Amino acid sequence: MKGKILVIEDNEQNLYLVRFILEKNDYEVFAVMDGESGIEMAASLRPDMILLDIQLPLMDGYTVARNLRRNPDLADTPIVAVTSYAMTGDREKTIEAGCNGYIEKPINPDIFMAQVEQHFTMRDQRRKGQ
Ligand code: MN
Repeated sequence: MKGKILVIEDNEQNLYLVRFILEKNDYEVFAVMDGESGIEMAASLRPDMILLDIQLPLMDGYTVARNLRRNPDLADTPIVAVTSYAMTGDREKTIEAGCNGYIEKPINPDIFMAQVEQHFTMRDQRRKGQ
């Protein structure tokens, strides 16, 4: 197992696809469909990465990201927004909220794993730089 990835995603089809790709690539997947559950599970699970949908019911992904970043245990954890917004302003908004980056929907299965693993590489570089 390469690591634990928490997926916060309310769309079942997206979740199915993300889970399929990640599990095929030897990651352990934990999934929740709303932000509050995501914040709770992140605290207990301490995943190696969090994939965060931005359009979520009740609490949007920006709010979820800000909450996750308040947990010192998750300071080093890559949080990657996964969303269909394509505009630069929204991309900046995800970074401001505490995300490390952005993967655009619809997910492209051919490059999704590389996009995810790039964030592990960047995390390792940040650790080395400390
Ligand atoms: Mn959604």
